Amino acid sequence: MAGVPDAFQRLWTPHRLVYIQTGQQPEEHACPFCRAPEMDDVESLIVARGEHAFVLLNLFPYNSGHLLVCPYRHIATYDEASVEEVAEIGSLTQTAMRVLKSVSKCDGFNLGMNQGRIAGAGIAEHLHQHIVPRWALDSNFFPIIAQTKAVPQLLGDVRREIAEAWPA
Ligand SMILES: [Zn+2]
Repeated sequence: MAGVPDAFQRLWTPHRLVYIQTGQQPEEHACPFCRAPEMDDVESLIVARGEHAFVLLNLFPYNSGHLLVCPYRHIATYDEASVEEVAEIGSLTQTAMRVLKSVSKCDGFNLGMNQGRIAGAGIAEHLHQHIVPRWALDSNFFPIIAQTKAVPQLLGDVRREIAEAWPA
């Protein structure tokens, strides 16, 4: 191996190549649903990881235990999902409902995907399915008059409870 030594150390940063290659920007890393699986479960609020999709707590819950099911792939809408992704989003949703029933004794659920900004998607560029547990007396006047949601349990505690109840 040939080379001319100099006074500099080298910090090899091949991951920065995307910054200098034209037309390729690492913009997926600005996406919280792409970033989450790269972090540990506690930090990212992930409760379960599948092969094609994962489940995490919504940082902005409508209710305690509000979960999101996301494919790992950065796709915007449900019609872009593969057969495998659709199947696993479905099975993770079922498991999430069973777990929420057992840990939080909820009375019902709202499930839904907002597709596109116009339809109310907060992060429109990465598909996510909401799973919102509901209780008979969970609605109060806060969201109506003060745009404030009362959420009675801390996210870290909820995450641990759901993750521990998730079947292996
Ligand atoms: Zn993404």
